[in-house]
Amino acid sequence: MNMHSKQPIPPSSGSPLSSGGQVDLRDLAPARLRDYVMSLGLPAKRGRQIFSRLCLPGILDFSQLGISREVITLLAGHATMSSLTPVTVEKSSDGTEKFAFRLADGAVIESVLIPEDGRHTLCISSQAGCAMGCRFCLTGSQGFVRNLRPAEIVNQVLAVMTHMVVSGIERATPRELLNNLVFMGMGEPLANYDNLLTALTILMDDHGLGFSERRITVSTCGIVPRMDDLGRDIRVNLAVSLHAADDTVRSSLMPVNKTHNLESLLGACRRYPLGKKKVILFEYIMLKGINDSLADAHLLAKKLQGIPSRINLLPYNGTGETEYACPDEAQTLAFQKVLRDAGFNTFIRQSRGADISAACGQLAGKS
Ligand code: SAH
Ligand code: SF4
Repeated sequence: MNMHSKQPIPPSSGSPLSSGGQVDLRDLAPARLRDYVMSLGLPAKRGRQIFSRLCLPGILDFSQLGISREVITLLAGHATMSSLTPVTVEKSSDGTEKFAFRLADGAVIESVLIPEDGRHTLCISSQAGCAMGCRFCLTGSQGFVRNLRPAEIVNQVLAVMTHMVVSGIERATPRELLNNLVFMGMGEPLANYDNLLTALTILMDDHGLGFSERRITVSTCGIVPRMDDLGRDIRVNLAVSLHAADDTVRSSLMPVNKTHNLESLLGACRRYPLGKKKVILFEYIMLKGINDSLADAHLLAKKLQGIPSRINLLPYNGTGETEYACPDEAQTLAFQKVLRDAGFNTFIRQSRGADISAACGQLAGKS
């Protein structure tokens, strides 16, 4: 599928979001939902009750909200509650599962469930396609389709939880199904800022799924003003797709670097409010002959000096559309050693789900 052939839909704002003129209750942060419910003449506590139910997997219509017939009729006259059902679920030989969802307008997005040592991490999408155009990334090469609404972000989580329950994964409560949520699927989360913030508010609320700040990571290619906004507006882990320690190389890989260069990006990292024991996760794709020399590793160590960091080296995943290659393991290990010797916690991240095109940079929404 060529994403460029799709009619782009204007980015949605963070305003009350509606489908077909009706409010989608799953788009509303708890305070907004409470106000909305009160505007219909219902008590605030009904808003809290409805919010909690909306955050449970498997709740698909008003009759499952635990409210009276009259209230159902009242709500159904004004509002909808959206949900997502995967159109395909593919399982990798390593247990990783890729879910494709078709949205109401036909756009396709993907989420990836990664099991590891009995824990589950869900990688979710924030946009259909991506406008940032990073040269090594298949999502980027597809171009931008549109921003996801808050409900479309939250519904990926609920749909995967539902799938886990149906698959027989047992936990005492639904909120224990997923250990971590990472915004590392399709799209640049900070380019869909208002909707991201609303989705985070919903996902982190204690009356709902209650994801704590330790369990959510937002990954960005480096939209500096929005990084400052995020640090001010909410507490979550930050991951930065760095991929080069030199402006010329980074600009050739990531067009965003021409607007927000390394100095400005690393300045935002230094300002980003980190709690105790917290670090910024720097992602660095190893690209043979481009950013993988030992001189590159030394430069990276120099540039990150003083920033509480963890560095993940990502072996480049082939997308079939670029000329890049992954260096051999010895080179990656030598690169890692330079960083470790300089005092940085550095890991070589094993690629997961490559056989079903679920690995980083391989999500293209082709279902
Ligand atoms: N847009 C955000 C979120 C996507 S995260 C961001 O770029 O940070 C996906 C991660 O996979 C990013 O670190 C991205 O740079 C990386 N990635 C993209 N293409 C890749 C590829 N072909 N091989 C390995 N990693 C890739
Ligand atoms: Fe977009 Fe991230 Fe891919 Fe770059 S790496 S094109 S920002 S999804």
